[in-house]
Amino acid sequence: MRFRAGGDGYRTSMADKLDRYRSRRDFEVTSEPRGQRTDDPSRQPVFVIQKHDASRLHYDFRLEIDGVLKSWAVPKGPSIDPSVKRLAVPTEDHPMEFADFEGVIPEDEYGAGTVLVWDSGTFELLRDQEGTAVERLERGRLNFRLNGHKLRGGFALVRTGGGENAQWLLIKMKGEGADRRRKPLKQQPGSVLSGSDLDEIAEHGKKLE
Ligand code: MN
Repeated sequence: MRFRAGGDGYRTSMADKLDRYRSRRDFEVTSEPRGQRTDDPSRQPVFVIQKHDASRLHYDFRLEIDGVLKSWAVPKGPSIDPSVKRLAVPTEDHPMEFADFEGVIPEDEYGAGTVLVWDSGTFELLRDQEGTAVERLERGRLNFRLNGHKLRGGFALVRTGGGENAQWLLIKMKGEGADRRRKPLKQQPGSVLSGSDLDEIAEHGKKLE
């Protein structure tokens, strides 16, 4: 797959948010959700990390912000070592229902390949910053705390450089959940939804064809 720089891309109007996602997919062919917004302000926002075995294996990191899943492709996946910075390339907003999507995206469809829900849970914004999540992203830094099955504690998405050279990095904060020795990507490779690995999901997908 190609990692497209998404510009800062956070100012899109609500109605347009999923246009890019939908325009890239043929919903007659793929089993990915088309997307409908649901709002329940009392609920904690969710996060999901999907391991995506496309033309190049990567991890899609998604945070529920303003009724959609704001998304970054993290080629090397998250690290829980605070000294490690992982490139996180902004990609198109995804619908909330995508948080549960695990399966096979058919050949010739955008993102063709196998998707596994590697981690999921809720997150909260850290109080050391002001403003909404969108405002924080516009300023180039979002600090948040994950409550996942595999990942816990503070993380930051940080924009470095400017203009054409802007890049986002995903960084583990020190303290809760930080560990230089544990390697969750390697040691806990399976799905938190089904326990399956990528091969099993791909096999299952073939049987459905
Ligand atoms: Mn992907």
